Amino acid sequence: MTNTRYIFITGGVTSSLGKGIISSSLAKLLLGRGFKVTIQKFDPYINVDPGTLNPYEHGECFVTDDGAETDLDLGHYERFTDVRTSQANNVTTGRIYQTVINKERHGDYLGKTVQVIPHITDEIKRRIKLLGKDDYDFVITEIGGTVGDIESFPYIEAIRQMRWDTDGKIIVIHLTLVPYLATSKELKTKPTQHSVKLLLENGVQPDILVLRTEKSLTSDVREKVAKFCNVSINSVIESIDAKTIYEVPLLMQKEKLDEVVLKKFNIPVEGGIDLKQWETIVSKIKNSDCSVKIALVGKYVELPDAYKSINESLIHAGAGIDCKPNITFLHSEKISDQNSYEILKEYDGIIVAPGFGHRGIEGKISAIKYARENNIPFLGICLGMQCAVIEFARNVMNLKDANSTEIHQNTANPVIDLMEEQKNIIDLGGSMRLGAYRCKIDKHSKLFEEYKKSDISERHRHRYEFNDKYLKAFEEKGMIATGINPESNLVEIIEIKNHKWFTGVQFHPEYKSTVLNPHPVFISFLKACNLINYKDKKER
Ligand code: GLN
Repeated sequence: MTNTRYIFITGGVTSSLGKGIISSSLAKLLLGRGFKVTIQKFDPYINVDPGTLNPYEHGECFVTDDGAETDLDLGHYERFTDVRTSQANNVTTGRIYQTVINKERHGDYLGKTVQVIPHITDEIKRRIKLLGKDDYDFVITEIGGTVGDIESFPYIEAIRQMRWDTDGKIIVIHLTLVPYLATSKELKTKPTQHSVKLLLENGVQPDILVLRTEKSLTSDVREKVAKFCNVSINSVIESIDAKTIYEVPLLMQKEKLDEVVLKKFNIPVEGGIDLKQWETIVSKIKNSDCSVKIALVGKYVELPDAYKSINESLIHAGAGIDCKPNITFLHSEKISDQNSYEILKEYDGIIVAPGFGHRGIEGKISAIKYARENNIPFLGICLGMQCAVIEFARNVMNLKDANSTEIHQNTANPVIDLMEEQKNIIDLGGSMRLGAYRCKIDKHSKLFEEYKKSDISERHRHRYEFNDKYLKAFEEKGMIATGINPESNLVEIIEIKNHKWFTGVQFHPEYKSTVLNPHPVFISFLKACNLINYKDKKER
């Protein structure tokens, strides 16, 4: 047996309490103490991965270097800890069942009846322990959903069994909500008590309770929760609403969450954690005097989680150059050539988001036309880059019917076309060009100034590409390819030469930005936005 300790994070009372943020904050603190830590997320839905989910369902799909399409919480893990995640860090019920059913078909169960307990729970435990093999001191496993959901039961049961399988090398942290009733001016603990009762019914005693609250917990509330939920008073941790999620590790350090965890495992608490650099960044995020107005044009704007990583990357880059991005989500379906000036004139920079399908495409193209013609810094990401190519073809090269074959299959000018290797693919799940690929950057490009190297690697998630047949014609008119994949020759970056800052990237820089390492693409873009001075704005 390895020496790995397992920390489970469950949630109760409501969803969206921020288990991912608490998991990431705890990981950050334990890493700060010199431990080797990884975080894993179990999602109790039947999709094999979130790749086929509409962003309206679960927000953005995060992509790892090894090409896993994962839950957006993995993005938080990487952004907080700078530890890269992989396929093994996100498992869904669908994947668990798929493995078990494949084994059954293969005859591996030797004629036994295949059941939730033990076969499904064994597969869950195998996936948890898989990470333990990598010599981690701690594996933090976040269980998606809320205790009491029918889908969560096998996971809670697996946790119950893990206590015995690992000789007690596990602890359970349960995150709940303590609502404040304005009428009686009271914090209410009953929902927490009920939630813990549900866990206990399933044989799991939480070791630590993290209570989400909008008001500070009084010692009375802490005592009451400790008594009714069967935990010691110092295991009741307050998680008060914060101005930015990046403040949470600092708040958890104040509440001594890491120390309580170590004590539970009988590990001596030695020395402290130096979070000075983190504190400086958080203070810049909260208090920067300078600000730039950024329009993020997309079609899922009602749900900001759909563009989580882009939003966070802008925040990291903003802290990096000490200039706060003020981000507005704009619905691409509401933008046209007629109203683009009115809608967009107040912004210092425009981003056109990634996406799939035809909805909202023409509005994205109109926003890009405005940015190009008015010399406004523009960043197009994946579909956003493809739209920039279409816009340039139509309005500069005069190919009026130019399009992507994703939008118009039989267009006469397919400037964006399906990649050759995609042409015979029928299944949608996990079949895109996914994960990290290399790119060679032109030394004279805007991005080179920030990357400061020509050989880079970025993550991808797409099926369509810049159609090489048109490259020469584009370059003659001033849109140049400044980043190329050295193996496949795919165009990865385009730039417009005579423009303040106009860049499209086929990859997703937002998946690699972290708090401590803001991404060069976003830094370069924000610097350009910040350069637009008052006079410039008045002239527009
Ligand atoms: N739909 C486009 C493609 O598949 C872009 C994908 C994206 O923006 N991630 O190529």
